[in-house]
Amino acid sequence: MIIFVKVKLKKLFKKKRNYPWPRPESCPRCSNYKVWGHGYAQAIFDGYEEPLMLKLYRCSVCGCVIRLRPSGYFKRFQAKITTIRSCISHKEKLSKWLSGIPPTRQRHWLRALQRRIKAYLSDIWNQGLLKAFDHFMTLGHVPVTRNI
Ligand SMILES: [Zn+2]
Repeated sequence: MIIFVKVKLKKLFKKKRNYPWPRPESCPRCSNYKVWGHGYAQAIFDGYEEPLMLKLYRCSVCGCVIRLRPSGYFKRFQAKITTIRSCISHKEKLSKWLSGIPPTRQRHWLRALQRRIKAYLSDIWNQGLLKAFDHFMTLGHVPVTRNI
């Protein structure tokens, strides 16, 4: 179970395990009122050389592990959502990749988005890549994940 929360990554990078994470008020699965700290998970984010420590909680009643992740990032992605969206927009408008990010990664995002368009919106989608990206976002999808 993932809960997205506001995280200051710079501060997290500095404070590591001492970062003041919020504690969920109750278990998102069973609503038990108390969850306990359950260690940390490492995750990599663009701009930070070392993995950052993301806080885990566990519900003592149902055993659910709750992972806190920074909002503004898709799960399992190290680039900001806004960066990925700019890349898609740039490619669509100018037929060029964004500078500063390896083209292999941008190509990966683009292909995944194109596959998702094909799978969900069929071949007749004619509103472009960026509109499709936003459409998937409103559905709660990760527009650029390979898992369909
Ligand atoms: Zn629970």
